[in-house]
Amino acid sequence: MSKTQEYIEKGEKYLLKTYNRYPVVLDRGEGVYLFDVDGKKYLDFGAGIAVFALGYGNQKYNDALKGQIDKILHTSNLFYNVPAVDAAEKIVKTSGMDKVFFTNSGAEAIEGALKVAKKYAYKKDPSREYEFIAMNHSFHGRSQGALSVTGNVHYQEGFVPKQMRAVFAEFNNLADVEAKVTENTCGIICEVVQGEGGIYPATKEFLVGLRKLCDEKDILLIFDEVQCGMGRCGALYAHELYGVKPDVMALAKALGCGVPVGAFVTVQKASGALVPGDHGTTYGGNPFAAAAVNAVYEIFEEEKIIDHVKEVGEYLYEKLEELMAKHSQITEHRGLGLMQGLELSCPAGDIITKAMDQGLILMSAGTNVLRFVPPLIIEKAHVDEMCGILDSVLAYR
Ligand SMILES: *Cc1c(COP(=O)(O)O)cnc(C)c1O
Repeated sequence: MSKTQEYIEKGEKYLLKTYNRYPVVLDRGEGVYLFDVDGKKYLDFGAGIAVFALGYGNQKYNDALKGQIDKILHTSNLFYNVPAVDAAEKIVKTSGMDKVFFTNSGAEAIEGALKVAKKYAYKKDPSREYEFIAMNHSFHGRSQGALSVTGNVHYQEGFVPKQMRAVFAEFNNLADVEAKVTENTCGIICEVVQGEGGIYPATKEFLVGLRKLCDEKDILLIFDEVQCGMGRCGALYAHELYGVKPDVMALAKALGCGVPVGAFVTVQKASGALVPGDHGTTYGGNPFAAAAVNAVYEIFEEEKIIDHVKEVGEYLYEKLEELMAKHSQITEHRGLGLMQGLELSCPAGDIITKAMDQGLILMSAGTNVLRFVPPLIIEKAHVDEMCGILDSVLAYR
């Protein structure tokens, strides 16, 4: 029996079955390549779901983590710690926002952001209900608060009672959002580029309109940049591309490049909503996680990752346009920077499985969209390699 088979059987026996996993057992990574336990090599265009921006084996990143392990891993949030304070400073200075709260995941960053908006509204009028407006086809995470604003009934079903669900509006339809604002609306939440929902970038008019609406009604605008932030779209934070600033921003995925860490970030107006006692976490922003964040920001700057994303992102865009011109199964192409998607007239799963056989890891977003979210250090030659495999898979179909 191959090692792969052995670990798949063991995994099926012991891991709770909430995923239909691909029959691949990953073992190690090198640059933008992954290797499974039987030594098969894969070009990685998934980056662990838009997480591993720096690729595998960045020595500076690894050394920063190793150094922190030998110093101290955890302190709790009852004390200050050096890496967390430094990391918060970096996030504030680069975003022009005001304060940072570190979490362990994207879902927790969203939970915190929702609490900020609720408390902000509560302080104005404690007798109000709290209603969020969220977008159809959005994804904000699997905890119950994050699910309540996730615009996918399939994910909510059985977990979020109807009365707890947000009011959902059509993404990029400002009039629809405007029509749904009531005196109880305390926040509007959206991704700047919808990820799981199928790689849909927001339009400029939409975000500008949301900003204006929130200012007029004094409700908080929350941008979920868990997937589209951290350089992925060709700006450190995707909202920079639109010139529209949120009141609260959620980050995670590439924030720690593999170490589980997220954050919600507030502008000054929103920072005062939460006071001591209102929110907490045992692990959030512990020295180990925060050391990862510091290393990520330093490496992004030293290696000019954003410029690189712009350049390779444009190249990927051209190459995917060429593929679309060639293959009639591709019906649409969307995206920004190194967050792109191809909509197909057939299920994405078939294509992904065949690509994997040929040593290419791709992801889907929904049932019929191929999602391209490679490590941000990917080179043009890797784009060519990926397109070559995808071309042959699509031609064969
Ligand atoms: C992945 C994701 C989340 C949830 O993050 P987790 O770390 O899985 O909890 C939230 N929002 C968006 C946009 C995401 O892509």
